[in-house]
Amino acid sequence: MEQRVLSEEPERETMEFDVVIVGAGPAGLAAAIRLKQLAAEADKDVSVVVLEKGSTVGAHILSGAVIDPVALDRLIPDWRDKGSPLETQVTKDRFSFLWRTGGLGVPNIFMPPLMSNHGCYIGSLGSLCVWLAEQAESLGVEIYPGIAVTEAIYGPGGEIEGVITGDMGVARDGSHKDSYTPGIALTGKYTLLAEGARGSLSKQLIAKLGLDTQSGPQKFGIGLKELWEVPAEKHKPGLVQHTMGWPLDEKTGGGSFLYHFGERLVSVGFVLHLDYANPYLNPFKEFQRAKTHPAIRQHLEGGKRIAYGARALTEGGWQAIPQLAFPGGALIGCAAGFMNVPRIKGSHNAMLSGMMAAEAAFEAIQAGRARDVLDAYPEGLKTSSMAAELKKVRNVKPLWSRFGTMLGVTLGGIDMWLNTLFPFLRHTLKHKKPDYATLTRASEAKPICYDKPDGVLTFDILSSVFLSGTNHKEDEPVHLRLTDPSIPIERNLPEYAEPAQCYCPALVYEVVGEGEEQRFQINAQNCVHCKTCDIKDPAQNINWVPPEGGEGPNYMNM
Ligand SMILES: Cc1cc2nc3c(=O)[nH]c(=O)nc-3n(C[C@H](O)[C@H](O)[C@H](O)COP(=O)(O)OP(=O)(O)OC[C@H]3O[C@@H](n4cnc5c(N)ncnc54)[C@H](O)[C@@H]3O)c2cc1C
Ligand code: SF4
Repeated sequence: MEQRVLSEEPERETMEFDVVIVGAGPAGLAAAIRLKQLAAEADKDVSVVVLEKGSTVGAHILSGAVIDPVALDRLIPDWRDKGSPLETQVTKDRFSFLWRTGGLGVPNIFMPPLMSNHGCYIGSLGSLCVWLAEQAESLGVEIYPGIAVTEAIYGPGGEIEGVITGDMGVARDGSHKDSYTPGIALTGKYTLLAEGARGSLSKQLIAKLGLDTQSGPQKFGIGLKELWEVPAEKHKPGLVQHTMGWPLDEKTGGGSFLYHFGERLVSVGFVLHLDYANPYLNPFKEFQRAKTHPAIRQHLEGGKRIAYGARALTEGGWQAIPQLAFPGGALIGCAAGFMNVPRIKGSHNAMLSGMMAAEAAFEAIQAGRARDVLDAYPEGLKTSSMAAELKKVRNVKPLWSRFGTMLGVTLGGIDMWLNTLFPFLRHTLKHKKPDYATLTRASEAKPICYDKPDGVLTFDILSSVFLSGTNHKEDEPVHLRLTDPSIPIERNLPEYAEPAQCYCPALVYEVVGEGEEQRFQINAQNCVHCKTCDIKDPAQNINWVPPEGGEGPNYMNM
């Protein structure tokens, strides 16, 4: 990674803050709000800026979402009276194992208490972030959407001094257009990275600073989601349904979610663990297939799909959390990976981690410190309720990966019960391979035949991407960077049938032409910023870097 020292770049505009936060998701916004609350309580001032690559706050947020209000209750205790968009409480919680034509409901009584969704709220995390941003701005936080952060600024001792935002107005060939504006530098006493799963700057820092040397590789899933408007007679506000099994085979982890909320809205989605083996597997098409099961289709028939999107999520859990604090900054939220996989919930922990990092940063700033290590954040986290929650479920994902869905999930359930009843148990299973190393060779894998979409319940990718409102300029550098451009055709195609053609949920990657003329085409303008290619490419040859700020999907209510 290129190392920038600010003093070498005098022409770059610089803005100084106490705390710079990258990403206006639940983690970044909770951190910003907490910092301002602490400052107000102490009658001090602390300057906080939040930078967001989406065109607006929420434009790049995609989640289920059933939200555990534990963090909101702590951050803004009267959030229910302040016009928050979380209005639908969970009233019914179903979990089923599916086979092709039927399914078996698992009674709630078999589930450990931590799996219960009662007391949680169903809504759009994107809308919640819009509301959180309003709360933050009312406290004096500066929020700048449409700004992508591309690099860190390093001080003379290697400490993080702040960040640099991406240049605007660069043509595909690298030349400057008339609209060219160089990125600016934002410096802070502390920089908090809240980029969510597989953050691009977080990835650079984790590698450069060796933050994952103790924790080992993070694990990921790809989550695909559609928002449907359904007839009033079909709408059951408060109903939460999760399924496992069909259409996935025993060895492939994942499942569907379906949540009824708001005004006739149903959020339906599918999570597929990215340690799958078959290179022909297509997460988008598995999701479309899942919707044809009676358990899911009955909720959608007669309705209309109004939105689509996809996003990676972290699945490594407690044992995959990297070193959180480093000189000048810290990782918060899913940039570190606080997702509770069996609950499919991470937003409450994202917020809690942001609040803990904010408390450590505020204390340090009040003590006159700057750009050192915020040790109080990881120390406090170790004994937090969040740690207790994540430890209870730490073995579920490794057991699922090792033993498949039926046995792995059953063992995972037993393990969760054991850890609930005997919280002193310490057995922790490690994750095995990183997700990019789990594919079998195409010659040993079975191609999968997917049905054609009907355009009513099931859809093709391009009409879906259209609904995501995704937009990138044609004439700008491709933001999916290949370290070695020959690898897709010369290595990935013969070995793995170039799986990017299948795993990308936006049809960005295509192998076009015949024989000697074959080439790898990157339709970068379709990219919904899910980060799956950066994670799953078997050669680790695709590097996702932020395109110009304000580009990418324009999700609403996702
Ligand atoms: C399909 C799916 C379903 C889920 N369901 C649930 C659920 O039901 N309940 C639940 O609690 N959790 C759920 N989660 C997980 C939850 O969404 C995450 O845990 C949560 O969003 C993490 O919050 P975050 O703030 O860490 O990151 P994010 O929500 O990902 O936010 C990161 C923000 O940072 C911005 N950003 C990233 N990089 C940069 C950059 N370089 N420059 C500027 N801005 C940047 C992004 O645009 C984004 O707005 C689900 C996730 C998925 C994908
Ligand atoms: S190109 Fe990569 S980040 Fe973009 S949508 Fe496809 S898999 Fe996701």
